[in-house]
Amino acid sequence: MRAEIIAVGSELLLGDIVNTNASWLSEQLAVIGVDVFHHVSVGDNPARIQKVIEQAIERADVLIFTGGLGPTQDDLTVETIADYFKVPLISDPESERMIEAFFIARGMTHAKSNLKQALRPADAQVIANPIGTAPGICWDVSEKTGRETFILTFPGVPRELYQMWGYGKRFIQEKQQERGEQHQMLVSSSLHFFGIGESTLGEELADLMESSNPTVAPYVGRSEVRVRLAAKANTEADALALIQPIKSEIAQRLKPFYFGEGDEASLEESVAVLLLEQGLRVSTAESCTGGLVSSRLTDVSGSSEYTTLNVVTYSNEEKMKVLGVSVETLEQHGAVSPQTAQEMAEGIRRLSGADIGLSMTGIAGPTGGNEEKPVGLVYMGLSGPINSEGQDTRKTIVKKIMVNRNYKRMDIKYWFSQYALHYLRHYLLGTLRADEDSCELKPSASPVSNN
Ligand code: ATP
Ligand code: MG
Repeated sequence: MRAEIIAVGSELLLGDIVNTNASWLSEQLAVIGVDVFHHVSVGDNPARIQKVIEQAIERADVLIFTGGLGPTQDDLTVETIADYFKVPLISDPESERMIEAFFIARGMTHAKSNLKQALRPADAQVIANPIGTAPGICWDVSEKTGRETFILTFPGVPRELYQMWGYGKRFIQEKQQERGEQHQMLVSSSLHFFGIGESTLGEELADLMESSNPTVAPYVGRSEVRVRLAAKANTEADALALIQPIKSEIAQRLKPFYFGEGDEASLEESVAVLLLEQGLRVSTAESCTGGLVSSRLTDVSGSSEYTTLNVVTYSNEEKMKVLGVSVETLEQHGAVSPQTAQEMAEGIRRLSGADIGLSMTGIAGPTGGNEEKPVGLVYMGLSGPINSEGQDTRKTIVKKIMVNRNYKRMDIKYWFSQYALHYLRHYLLGTLRADEDSCELKPSASPVSNN
């Protein structure tokens, strides 16, 4: 079975929004063995939408529309489809009731235009919208086209589409069964890596990338690299069985960089698991990242188990006052220096009584850099009771990190936070080494007294 995804909305063509619905639907369709050969975006214009329908019927069996189901004048998808097939619309009583209930639940009354959303062709099924007012439809128009053609509509709002997809998926699967279609399932999984570039990763996995089932494809994500594994088989279990050994091999080969699998994987999540396992608490003292590391550490539910006090000390005064960074250190070496990073990490550990003190001090740009200390430079301090061999040395490791200075400020901050979580992860794994990028400093003037 072939599907064509038709996204309706002039804002897509103006570049205001990205057509994420099409990519999401493509993934979902692949899972149930439906081929997608075309994505089309079209403005809110009846004549052009009709032209798109005419073309899509020729080359696809399932036409999936998103967008244009709203109550306003420019939301025309259902009317235009009905016009194309010269079919009148009726108002669906259940949809009317749901639209009314939606507004009543919010202490509001609906506008007359909202009831327009209850309209459907008489022989179409309704896809209820549990979180919005626009229902979708599943409609078999095979008699009208003289070949098998099914039409599905969904709202443009992605979260509404995601909630409603299950109904549409079952409709398509029933049609596949009626056709006796033997389809193969495509199951895919994304592995996440940090600290290794896409090209190096590609070289490491060159032999595995020759595999055709599953396919192994590296790509760049947001401040990370991903590997997509995709397998085709008759059942989901068979596809997973194909993926499993290659996944283990990749995770083993790239162990220092691999931090998780699937959409939910993140460095903060993997750090949280390790902190909880080891019963350790971390406290952060941030400057240039403005609390981003703290924010990410607390994005994980249950974070109060492993983090209790985090500070942002943006000025030198506060670094001295709150963390006890010495005036000599700041005068001699500056705020962006390994020495300051060390004293910040030790200071926050002392202040909070946490097992690990983590500090960040650097230059996120675009202003404030110079030749010696360019934009993109950050020092990260990790002060803890254990070293990489698990011994209590009370040493602090400071890492020097350089991020591409041409990135935007927000991206540089995010990269900094990625490195902070990456090195914290290695610290917890016992694999953080003092290499050429790190400076193991002597204990600073103010001794770490707790633990
Ligand atoms: P509504 O009832 O909210 O008007 P609708 O079905 O009419 O729903 P649109 O008005 O086309 O949908 O889009 C609503 C919002 O959904 C858009 O502003 C946009 O943020 C998002 N959206 C629409 N189409 C897409 C798409 N193809 N991919 C991602 N987001 C989309
Ligand atoms: Mg709309």
